[in-house]
Amino acid sequence: MLKLENITKRYELKKKTVYAVNNVNMTFHKGEFVSILGLSGSGKTTLVSQLGGLDQPSEGRIIVNGVDTSSFKQQDWNNYRKNNIGFVFQDFHLIAHLTAKENIEIALSLSGLTPKEKSDRAEELLALMGITEQRDQLPKQLSGGQKQRVAIARALSNKPDIILADEPTGALDPDTSVQIMEILQALAENGHLVIMVTHNKYLARDYSTRIVALESGKIISNEEVRPSKQYKDDQLSTDKSSLQFFTAVKIAMNNLKIRKKSTIFSMVSLIPSMVLIFGIMNLIFNMSGYKADFKPLLGDVLGKDNLLYVTPFEDEQLESTQKTIYKEVNRLNVYNPRIEPFKNTIIEPYTDDAISDMEDIEGVDKVLRNTYFDVIIDEKPFLLMALPPKAYASYQYGVPKKHYPEDHEEGIIMSSEAAKVLLQDNHASVKHLVGTDITFNIYNYKSAAIKLPSIMEEKNVIHTKVIDIMDISTKTKLMSNYHAGYIYVSYGYAESLRERFDLDDFTLFSYSVPDPFKSVVGVEVEGGFLITGPQLVADPLRHLRIKTSLQEKYNLFQFREFDLNMRGNNYSVKHTVILNDAFNKDSLAKLKEYGHVTKSRFDAYSVESAKKTNEYINYSLLSATLIAVVVILIPTLLVCVILYVSIILRTKEIGILKSIGARNKDILNIFTMESGILALSSGIISLVVALPLIQYVRNILESEYDLQASLGSNPMDYNMLGIITAFILSVGIITMIGLLPGRKASKLQPNTLLKHE
Ligand code: ADP
Ligand code: MG
Repeated sequence: MLKLENITKRYELKKKTVYAVNNVNMTFHKGEFVSILGLSGSGKTTLVSQLGGLDQPSEGRIIVNGVDTSSFKQQDWNNYRKNNIGFVFQDFHLIAHLTAKENIEIALSLSGLTPKEKSDRAEELLALMGITEQRDQLPKQLSGGQKQRVAIARALSNKPDIILADEPTGALDPDTSVQIMEILQALAENGHLVIMVTHNKYLARDYSTRIVALESGKIISNEEVRPSKQYKDDQLSTDKSSLQFFTAVKIAMNNLKIRKKSTIFSMVSLIPSMVLIFGIMNLIFNMSGYKADFKPLLGDVLGKDNLLYVTPFEDEQLESTQKTIYKEVNRLNVYNPRIEPFKNTIIEPYTDDAISDMEDIEGVDKVLRNTYFDVIIDEKPFLLMALPPKAYASYQYGVPKKHYPEDHEEGIIMSSEAAKVLLQDNHASVKHLVGTDITFNIYNYKSAAIKLPSIMEEKNVIHTKVIDIMDISTKTKLMSNYHAGYIYVSYGYAESLRERFDLDDFTLFSYSVPDPFKSVVGVEVEGGFLITGPQLVADPLRHLRIKTSLQEKYNLFQFREFDLNMRGNNYSVKHTVILNDAFNKDSLAKLKEYGHVTKSRFDAYSVESAKKTNEYINYSLLSATLIAVVVILIPTLLVCVILYVSIILRTKEIGILKSIGARNKDILNIFTMESGILALSSGIISLVVALPLIQYVRNILESEYDLQASLGSNPMDYNMLGIITAFILSVGIITMIGLLPGRKASKLQPNTLLKHE
């Protein structure tokens, strides 16, 4: 059944070539018990390795049950070992951390049996070897003879035709040796081919049917000592089942348990890094959210020169007007010194005719009045603002496109911030306001008396409804407070209000008090009427500056901040000119006949600060990412090193798995599984630690900097997407790193793994 033709195994060493096996020809049959005798170094182990497919000959061919193995690929050899060969070694090669029974079962797990079938077969073999009692003992708790019985049971587990035993009694005392010989003899008599390497010629003579003597890799004698039973050859078994997933998991788990110290060490070094990664990724994902806030300001629309402002006023003129009113406000000392002067002015600088003439200029699409009305709703002042066309509304004011009020809808939309001011509750849910009727008063300078209630004339009252609440915080978190003082209407609706109230010669002023929840105060000044109200909330920088909660103290910072803002705000007297591609130098010259043509300073200021903040966020994102990379790299490398070291400690075990037919892939799976289990369990523990820690940092940031109010959200708010990404990424990377040592381990040759020193 086993035929060797001109088998030669050469080892090319640096200086010379060693012929470990030299031109061997021989045939073995089922039922034979062959002893191979020879001095140390005569090539016995090498020959047995060739027979067992642990190693392939340099020349010649091996024919098994009529099948020529010279065309075998690695996979065929694995299957050949698993299905046809049972190995028994001098030093037993049992896996130290598995019990007697488990050592047998591990071989069975390569042949696709159910756990029950495996257990039954293992019990059967334990009984056959007479070691049922020792089934739950570890190798170190077994005697030499018992260990060799376990090894033989394991060799028999897959019902192989051929048993290869390399000095099976080399480590046993004479009595035990005899018992093992009897077992091997019985196996041969029952139809196995047993090939045994031994030093002991007496044992060979007493038990085997044939003795082959080797010297320097050559056969020097080959004699039949007693007749063997004749058996018919079988078909070569080609079962291809392989290591089962759960067995791989079990082996991996076991390995981790056995190497408890290095496992704990790995986890202890992984967990802090993973916790840090969760925190950093949480931050990174939130930061990218802030970044998205700037899109409206930094978007394409603004980059193109398709928007200009035109005003008949000189800048100096505007400034002096403001200064006059500013002085007046200070003189009146309404809320000295925390008053914001001249917040919004509505002056109608052009007649309708002038506007339509401007619209006739080539390349001018539309000239929009910047229409604001000061209005009162429930005794709270707001600024009613006409929205420019959809695209502009979205970048100028951060109005999400889906919330843009179409012209036919004669209602108002409020930002959720404005709605909160209306409800006088910063934490109120505001959605229920959608669809409710609402009444507001428009302030009319001419009819405005000194005292506020008297200007609430019936003819200025508008009954309408809230058509939408915009959750602007989803789009422009950083600008959200800006929206608190505004309510919006469509441009068309604003125009119709203008007609109804003949607002052309209105001049309305408003200013704000530090506390938006204070009731309305109005006062008339020269050239206008001042109201106080929520516009202060409109300052996006306010909470960054004062770092206190909304109702608490305010200080002079605000005043300066508003001074800065105010200068920009004069664009309410500028008309927005929307251009198309046909706009040219001539058109610009014509437009300039109507007044100053500029890009709004307010926009320049916003864009500038948005750009700066955007840059700042970019840098922070970059550095956070770099830190994340370093933080994850260090423990990952450590795990890699630990796994590499473990290969060295486990070459024997890998060799055993290979000798019983494990494929390279199975070894790789076990290693990857180990790093995977390590990564996953560290990941879960890290998550449990990280979540409250993130919450803790968030709360500290919140109490120190009041970020919720100023940024619309805290950068350490839970960002589940960020945390999940961090989890998948870090667990994935650490698992993948197991592939490196795993590949190395899987490529080790089984014969070198099992060579005994
Ligand atoms: P035995 O089992 O009879 O003691 P071996 O089969 O282990 O002998 O070795 C036979 C010869 O081949 C020895 O001279 C040994 O040094 C050499 N040899 C075995 N394996 C290798 C190897 N991997 N590289 C080089 N020489 C080897
Ligand atoms: Mg040897």
